[in-house]
This record gives sequence, C-alpha cells and structure tokens, in this order.
Amino acid sequence: MKAVRFHEHGGLEVLKYEDAPDPTIQPNEVLVKVKACALNHLDLWLRRGVADWKLPMPHIAGSDISGAVVQTGALVSRIKAGDRVLLCPGISCGQCEACFKGLDSACRSYTLFGVKVDGGYAEYVRAPEVNAIPIPGGLSFDEAAAVPLVFITAWHMLMTRAALRPGEDVLVIGAGSGVGSAAIQIAKLMQARVIAVAGSDAKLEKARQLGADFTINHATQSIAREVRRITEKRGVDVVVDHVGAAVWEACFESLATYGRFVTCGVTAGHEVKLNLQALFGRQRALFGSYMGSKAELLEALKFIAQGKLRAVIDSVFPLREAAAAQGKMESRDFFGKILLHPE
Ligand SMILES: [Zn+2]
Repeated sequence: MKAVRFHEHGGLEVLKYEDAPDPTIQPNEVLVKVKACALNHLDLWLRRGVADWKLPMPHIAGSDISGAVVQTGALVSRIKAGDRVLLCPGISCGQCEACFKGLDSACRSYTLFGVKVDGGYAEYVRAPEVNAIPIPGGLSFDEAAAVPLVFITAWHMLMTRAALRPGEDVLVIGAGSGVGSAAIQIAKLMQARVIAVAGSDAKLEKARQLGADFTINHATQSIAREVRRITEKRGVDVVVDHVGAAVWEACFESLATYGRFVTCGVTAGHEVKLNLQALFGRQRALFGSYMGSKAELLEALKFIAQGKLRAVIDSVFPLREAAAAQGKMESRDFFGKILLHPE
C-alpha cells in the first residue's frame, strides 16, 4: 500500500510518500480502507521527536481515521465488511482496573493510532474491533474523521474533569484549534456562556458562528482585562487551555473563586509559576486532562448524529501532500481540522 512514513525524526522533509507493507489483521481486528485521516498537533510532536517516547520506525502517524471495513478477523462479530466506520483513537488493554473503570487513558498500555501502532497516513490500517464505531447519522467520511480525538479530549476536559454546570462561564483558549472548536460547542450545548480567545479576527468570527458569546483577540487585547470586563470582575468558572506558559498568567488571573483550570497540552511552553496563595484563597482547582474514554466518545457522538455538535473542517489534502498539510498546521493559519485523503 501507499503510506506517508518517516524513518527518522525531523522537519517536514522527513515525511515520505512511499510503499509500505499491507497490514495483516489479528483474529480480533478489522482491516479498514482509509477514506480520511485528520491531523492533530500530536502528529507534529511525533515527527519532531518527543523525549522518552520511542516510536516504531519507519513510522505511520495519524490518530483520527474513518474508512470502510474490507476484512474482519475470525473473532469479529459486531462489525462487518462494508461497514462505514470511524476509529476511536485510543487503544487500551480492556482488562485492567483502569479499563474496567472506563478510564481508558489511564491504562498502562494505553496508546493511540499513529503512536505505538500504525496510524491513518496510509491506504489501509488495522484496528481492534472494539475501536471500530459505525459512522452515525448521515456523516461523511470527512466529518467522521474530524470528530474523534478533539471531541473525546474536549468532552473529557469540560464534562468529566471540570464538571461543567449549566450557566457557568467558560474561557476557551486557542478557539481556532480542533479542541477549541469542539470545546466552544460542548460548552454551548451545556448552556454555558463562552468567551473564545484566538489571534485573528477571522478565527474569532468563526468562533462566534460556533456559538461563542464573546471573543478576545490576544494579539490586540489583554485576555485578563477583557475577562474581567465581560464577567464584571467575577472571572470565569472554567478555563480550557492547551497553549500553556504563554497564556498561563492570564488564564489563572481570569479564574473566578472556585474556578477550574483544565489543560490538555502545551503548544507554547510547559513551565509556569503558580501562586499557591491565590490557589487556596480563591479555592481554585487545576486539572490535567489526557484524551478520554470510548464511552465519552460515544456520548459526544450522540450529539454529533443529531447535528447538535459538528466537526469543523478547515481543508483537505491528498495523502501524498501530508508535509504541506502539516506545514499548514505549523503556520497556525487554519480553523478546525485538516484532513488527508489517500488517493
Ligand atoms: Zn487496561
């Protein structure tokens, strides 16, 4: 099959469109002909190399996959050849304490497509049957591929970690990202009031179209000052962040008493200063969040199927132009998900 692989870590130039062995499935697995694969910021980290993360080489990235099932293993009963499926990106053992509790991402063998196992930058991918979810509603393959990782992540952050309640105020940093566009919609679904932050007016206009009540352009406005003005000095109940150090002080200062800060990533710096007095005195809480569970994806998909949440697609590239697609992500000039199509 054709795939985009890298044999060593590095810049965009290490991504090679080339022949790769066809995957062979285990009895509990299905073989999926990839129709669309969405990029994630994770793909950039993996290509550049992450300390302490040893990847199988050559490596096929891609965690968000939709496609058609072309073959099923002997033990597979729920999924049939011909089914249109999306793949839950997280792979866990299914038989440890964390897995039984539904805490998939706390499983010690937890990984994602495109990390320890081959991902969707390819014509075919193999997947455990348990990860294959029939595409709900009338969703296209593109829409289906754009959903899983960001909606699992945003759902786990807002609903599970921060325990968002109706009527609360939510500050969404990086509103133009996949997680940001999902978080805005989930917060609105919960009847929260949303303040979206991004670095361009074009992105903020799209954030408003997704339901954001207020917007802040961090290139020209002070996040903390605007939050204070909008909330009449009260601050927000929840901050959703994946940027990190560059916005940390503004985020922490923007939290109301009993406010919760939840982070799922650090695209701009991971070391910050924390004022413990302001943490305990204002009874604030900090939450780390990493992916989520299959159950959380199924919960979010119910609303996707009803059209109450939707994947936001920025652009589509042919698989052979994966380097250009990742270059677009690096440029930050996008809103929503960037997709690849195997020819
Ligand atoms: Zn497990």
